[in-house]
Amino acid sequence: MSLKTTFFKAGYCTHPEAVVIRDGRWKTTQFPALFALISHPQFGAVLFDTGYSDRFFQETRQFPLQLYALTTPVYFKPEDSAVRQLQHQGIEAATVRFIIISHFHADHIGGLRDFPNAQFICFKSAYEAVKYRRGISALKAGFLVGLLPKDFEQRAIFVEDKPQVALPLEYTPFETGFDLLGDASLLAVELPGHATGQLGLFFSDASHQSYFLIADACWLSRAYQEFIKPHPIANLIFSDGRQYGDTLSKIHQLHQLNPELKIIPTHCPQAWDELSKLRAF
Ligand SMILES: [Zn+2]
Repeated sequence: MSLKTTFFKAGYCTHPEAVVIRDGRWKTTQFPALFALISHPQFGAVLFDTGYSDRFFQETRQFPLQLYALTTPVYFKPEDSAVRQLQHQGIEAATVRFIIISHFHADHIGGLRDFPNAQFICFKSAYEAVKYRRGISALKAGFLVGLLPKDFEQRAIFVEDKPQVALPLEYTPFETGFDLLGDASLLAVELPGHATGQLGLFFSDASHQSYFLIADACWLSRAYQEFIKPHPIANLIFSDGRQYGDTLSKIHQLHQLNPELKIIPTHCPQAWDELSKLRAF
C-alpha cells in the first residue's frame, strides 16, 4: 500500500520531566502535541489526531475547567493549528475525509471542528467514557465537550464495528487489530490505561517502513524502550494504572522483537526532533 505520512506539531505543553518518567529530573520540559497526516491513494488525507487549537483557551476560561489550563500550561499560536499547517501543504480542510482519534483528551481533539466533512474514527468505548462528562468529571477525564462538533455522533465511525483481522507477525505480541478502511492499510489496536479505549495505529508506508502510533501509552520514547513507568502521581489522570503498565510492557516487548518498527508517542520531544528532520519542507 503506497501510504505517505508526515508528522506535525500543533502546540505543546510543559510539565516537569519526572512526572512522565520515574527516573526523570524535576526540570520543566516541553511536550509537543503531534498529529500525523497519512495520505492514502484512494481515500486521500487521513489524520491521526489534531493536536491543540485556540479553542483550548476558550473552553478553559471558567472554573472548574480553568484548572486544566492552570495545571497544564499550553503554548499555541494560531498558525500552529492542524488546519493552517495542512493548508500550507495545499490540503484544504474540506477535503479531509477521516480523522482517527486516539482518545478524547483536549490535546488530541483540539482541531476536530476545523474539518467540516471529516468522519471520526474512534473506539466506541473511548467516546462512551467521556460523552456525558461535564464540570469536575470532565476535568478529571481531560475532556472539553466544546471541542467536539455538534454533529459528532452522526459523523462517528466506531472501531468496534470494523472487521477484526490477524496482525502481521512483525507486530507480536499484538495479535489482532481492526481493519479501519477495509484494505488492511490502517490497523487499530486498543492501548488501554492512559484513557479508556485509547487507540494505537499500525501502518506501513510506500518505502515499507512500518509505524506504530501509540498516542499517550507513554510520553517519552525512553519509557517503552527501557520499560520505565511514570511517577505515581500520573496515576491521578489515568483511567487505569495497572492497564497502563500492561500496555507499556507490551509495547516494550514489541520494540525488543522488532527494533525497526518506528514507535511514535505523541508527546516525545526526541521523537518529534527525529521526525521533523525527515520532513521535506
Ligand atoms: Zn496527550
